[in-house]
Amino acid sequence: MAAHETIGFIGLGVMGGPMCRNVAQKHLGSVIAFDLNASALADLADTKAVPAGSVLELAGQADVILLSLPGDAQVERVCLGPDGIIATARPGSVVVDLSTTSVAAARRVGEALAARGISFADAPVARTREAARKGELSIMVGAGAETFARIQPLLAYMGTDVTHCGAIGTGQTVKLINNNLLFEHVVALAEMMVLGERAGVAPQTLLEAVSKGSGDSFALRNHGMKAMLPRAFPEKAFPPEYVLKDIDYLLALAKEHGLDAKGVELARHYYDAARTHGMSGRYFPGVIAVVEAGGMHDLKVAS
Ligand code: NAD
Repeated sequence: MAAHETIGFIGLGVMGGPMCRNVAQKHLGSVIAFDLNASALADLADTKAVPAGSVLELAGQADVILLSLPGDAQVERVCLGPDGIIATARPGSVVVDLSTTSVAAARRVGEALAARGISFADAPVARTREAARKGELSIMVGAGAETFARIQPLLAYMGTDVTHCGAIGTGQTVKLINNNLLFEHVVALAEMMVLGERAGVAPQTLLEAVSKGSGDSFALRNHGMKAMLPRAFPEKAFPPEYVLKDIDYLLALAKEHGLDAKGVELARHYYDAARTHGMSGRYFPGVIAVVEAGGMHDLKVAS
């Protein structure tokens, strides 16, 4: 990617806002930004990113278009809808989707754009809003070799770990597997933390002791110690609604490949309960509050 190229950024939420800020600070060429939410756009007013009035306007000017949108519906609308990128983007331009979507959606969008001479990469990001702010994300990329080589310097504005996973769709495959491992792990932690406390072990003592043994994990040291222990479940982090979205994308992929992912299905019940039991919109490790309150009591697991 050449330094003078124009970058467009669509979707300036919890992750997209700080990612776009990094792009605006590090890229030498022009940066244009768009979000349906005017206040998300206003948050970048102190950067060089120029607000666009619409997706169409942005797509007509940008050489590379970055997306950070909620999921399939928004990505497909913004890319392929009547007022979407496909209507005005120039052949030779490239769309890089930083959102977490289904694998099938990444393939559909990639194929439709390719038919108009527009390249595509799925490049979902892992880690937190804080990592997005610091430009220290892990980015998993599904793209052809040429497209990957073109966007690699741009991804380095936002991430410290960039992995080329394979063809279009494989970035989402790796991201969904990563997230679902975490979601299952956080459910296991929630149950064990509640059990340990009821059995007379102070939660901090439990986590510190277990972190020295084979029960240790990234989830224990981060989600466990930093959120579940102090019961800190803020808004503007990663809510149960997004967990359920990623679980459903994983289950669709598992079905496509003939895998019965029962562990993931079970974890889904916990996050659905979190959503309906006071944790809607709040950080997903809040699922421990549901376990603690006996919110899973009526769950019947088919044998
Ligand atoms: P968010 O809901 O905070 O931001 C999404 C933004 O997209 C919002 O500002 C919204 O106004 C905008 N938007 C929606 N539809 C639009 C449209 N048609 N045109 C223009 N703008 C539109 O979400 P987020 O937490 O930033 O997550 C974005 C993506 O990154 C999701 O796919 C999520 O799964 C993934 N992700 C999130 C986190 C996290 O910790 N929050 C971490 C890694 C990955």
